[in-house]
Amino acid sequence: MLSQITQPTLLLPAGTLFESRSARFRHLAKSHSLAPWLTLLGTLCDLQQEQADALARTPLTASEDFPLLTAHTSSLMASARSVYRAMAASAAQRFGLSEAQAALLQTPLSDAALDERLQAILLHARDMTPIEDWDITALLAAAAAQTVWHHAVRQLGLAAESEPPVTPEACPCCGSLPVGSIIMAGDGKAGVRYLECSLCATRWHAVRAHCSLCDSDKTIDYLGLEGHNKVVQAETCGDCHGYQKVFLQTGDIRVDPVADDLATLALDVLVGERDYARGVPNLLMHEGTPAA
Ligand SMILES: [Zn+2]
Ligand SMILES: [Zn+2]
Repeated sequence: MLSQITQPTLLLPAGTLFESRSARFRHLAKSHSLAPWLTLLGTLCDLQQEQADALARTPLTASEDFPLLTAHTSSLMASARSVYRAMAASAAQRFGLSEAQAALLQTPLSDAALDERLQAILLHARDMTPIEDWDITALLAAAAAQTVWHHAVRQLGLAAESEPPVTPEACPCCGSLPVGSIIMAGDGKAGVRYLECSLCATRWHAVRAHCSLCDSDKTIDYLGLEGHNKVVQAETCGDCHGYQKVFLQTGDIRVDPVADDLATLALDVLVGERDYARGVPNLLMHEGTPAA
């Protein structure tokens, strides 16, 4: 039984994840210099929630080893293709797209071309391999992959809070890198740190003040933007010279690692100027640029 002393090592994402993330994007867009882009991403999250709600609830068997979804990759790819096509069909009506973006979406992708984009997203999520053509089709492919993998972890029959052994390197469910860390508030987990998967949004336990990129705990430092540093901080490591962001529910209970990351790009600039390299992906952006 879980107690205040034994923390669950794994937290499943909520079924309403994308709805909450959409609300967070819209909240963060208020009086933000990147308001149109953050609002567009909020609408993208609405599309993700609609697609997630429409996916079949078919139980999936967990693999015996990690990552638990390994055996299902090909069926998840097929599902991601369908979700992509549904999103691409309605994107032009739902977002304010540029002419070039609308033209790209009007030309349907072959299954092979779409698979290439989805594979590029999965690879980037796993090891930060750069994505060659970061355009609107790649952004929708990323959103489709998140939708399908998020849905899949919820079909594995795991308890919402469970205690499998986890390691800091990669998501126990899908093997992807985290988008960042979240420091929890309330529910007997106050102050406990979890990493949140950039692809499926599963959260897994990690010790605090410990670099999840290289495992060092010697030269960890925290940098924040004035006025925001109670909610988002960059955790820098002097050993590997990498950083990832830490999102504090204690500063704002509604903080969302994906949305709050993209609303604090000024922090990435600040940390980059001190020669720290970002060590984790955010699948809704690529190398500091919104989709072309
Ligand atoms: Zn995952
Ligand atoms: Zn490190």
